[in-house]
Amino acid sequence: MTSTASLRIGLFGGTFDPPHVGHLVTAVNVRHALNLDIVILMVANDPWQKSGARDVTTAEDRFAMVEAAVSVVDGVIAGRDEIDRGGPSYTADTLMALAEKHPGAELFTIVGDDAAAGLTSWTRVDQVVQYSQLVVVDRPGVAVSLPQEFNWLRVESPRLEVSSTDLRSRFSDGRPLDYLVTEPVLHVIEQRGLYGSAARMN
Ligand code: ATP
Ligand code: MG
Repeated sequence: MTSTASLRIGLFGGTFDPPHVGHLVTAVNVRHALNLDIVILMVANDPWQKSGARDVTTAEDRFAMVEAAVSVVDGVIAGRDEIDRGGPSYTADTLMALAEKHPGAELFTIVGDDAAAGLTSWTRVDQVVQYSQLVVVDRPGVAVSLPQEFNWLRVESPRLEVSSTDLRSRFSDGRPLDYLVTEPVLHVIEQRGLYGSAARMN
């Protein structure tokens, strides 16, 4: 059996509805800066902080998009543990499962600035900090302000001003998505007719 004791694993969770270049730039730069073996883009099954407010694309469709997004990226993979577990997705549970699967591995929970600011609202955040090192992504030269009660590791990465929310509204009014979403993701979107793309092609 291969030892997992020296593995350094980054967990970058999200709804990824859809995944965009901001997510990929972050994953690649954090992996490089912290010398991580792997960064997992973990697809939330039920993003409980979002699901009441709007229609979230199905977990399987979001997973297919993330898989496509990372297919051409070294050291970054798509995670479906939260989908397979079902129910609402809590990072604490995902970290515990990762720790069990990779005994002795060092775990890093990666969050963007907005997610970092909301960390205090996470379920069982004490377990998140017990099982992993928190990592926040700063814009170069600009340190984001953070909840003080946690021990943060800061990594600088270019912050591309793109969000899934903006992308969804681009889809709905027909503005271009080129260079904001990568080709393999656009392909899945068209193949599966997501975000109204099927209707537009008819
Ligand atoms: P939405 O607009 O629907 O909230 P999003 O673009 O924020 O989508 P999420 O799936 O909510 O994407 O975010 C997953 C993680 O990616 C979070 O930690 C978030 O802070 C981070 N993130 C989102 N957009 C960017 C970006 N442009 N650059 C770096 N990190 C980002
Ligand atoms: Mg978000």
